Amino acid sequence: MMYAMTDDPHSAPPVELAAFPTPVEPAPRLATAIGLGPDDLWIKRDDLTGLGGGGNKIRKLEWTVGAALAEGADTLVTTGAPQSNHARLTAAAGARVGLDVVLVLRGSPGVSRSGNLALDGLFGARIAWAGDVDRAGLDRAAAEVCEQLRTSGAKPALIPFGGSSALGARGYVRCGEELREQLPDLRTAVVALGSGGTMAGLVISLGADAVLGVDVGALPEPAAAVSEFAGLPASEGLRFRRDQIGGGYATLTAPTADALTLAARTAGLVLDPTYTGRAMAGLIAAVRDGDIRPGERTVFVHTGGLPGLFGHAEGVAYAEGRVVEYRA
Ligand SMILES: *Cc1c(COP(=O)(O)O)cnc(C)c1O
Repeated sequence: MMYAMTDDPHSAPPVELAAFPTPVEPAPRLATAIGLGPDDLWIKRDDLTGLGGGGNKIRKLEWTVGAALAEGADTLVTTGAPQSNHARLTAAAGARVGLDVVLVLRGSPGVSRSGNLALDGLFGARIAWAGDVDRAGLDRAAAEVCEQLRTSGAKPALIPFGGSSALGARGYVRCGEELREQLPDLRTAVVALGSGGTMAGLVISLGADAVLGVDVGALPEPAAAVSEFAGLPASEGLRFRRDQIGGGYATLTAPTADALTLAARTAGLVLDPTYTGRAMAGLIAAVRDGDIRPGERTVFVHTGGLPGLFGHAEGVAYAEGRVVEYRA
């Protein structure tokens, strides 16, 4: 099933922030370790989108930053968690195209500045701490920062949470088109489902039946977000699973920890505790319960997030505990 692109008032061209297409690579040892045939599982390397350490937010930013430039904005404003990959990549994109960046982040100046936050600092983004707020509070804080910037004579453009909107999702329409060329017999693309724009774009280009989203617990109603951004009348027919959320967004679940070690030791692939590790745990669970079967072509969309591993205290402690001593 294919869906038409939704009409969008923003028709500005995207700005080029990376070299596409990203590669796809086979993962035969990982495939057989999880119960698939050696040729069944491929990895779409969207962690290799270059700019700012790479990751899925780059494709969405090509469209949202393109629209900001077309509007004559001089400052990008966006929101997120302290370890937001999207915030880090917005900071990098602003540095690349010459726009100031203000990141409105949940939390206070006392949070650990490792991982993504350290990179935000290198890219020169300014951080506005929103305190311990919910999603609505974060949006209010961002609106306030935009108002202050306008008062001081700046022209802010607000990039939505996670870069996800109908416009941002267009970046993942293109990823789906790449996948259809690279893996014509693709049956299922497995991807982490956070703010929803990535899955929405893939659903537009590949069809709802070909995309399995693994919810990481970032939104209360992720299916509604995906159908909104994809322009679907309803969320029926979307394939997603919610069994990998565990204690929530910022925790390290046992299946995710196992997935981190397995992907590292069978494919040399680094996953992160929040997104890609959960997505891989969801893929493993999907093979176990028969939703994904041997003999079908499956692609795991690697959406990046490596700096998030180093900004995740529990994830770092887990990885440190995996160090193997050599004994003669
Ligand atoms: C944001 C993010 C996702 C989820 O993408 P959404 O479009 O927000 O659903 C997946 N993986 C990583 C590493 C991310 O940073």
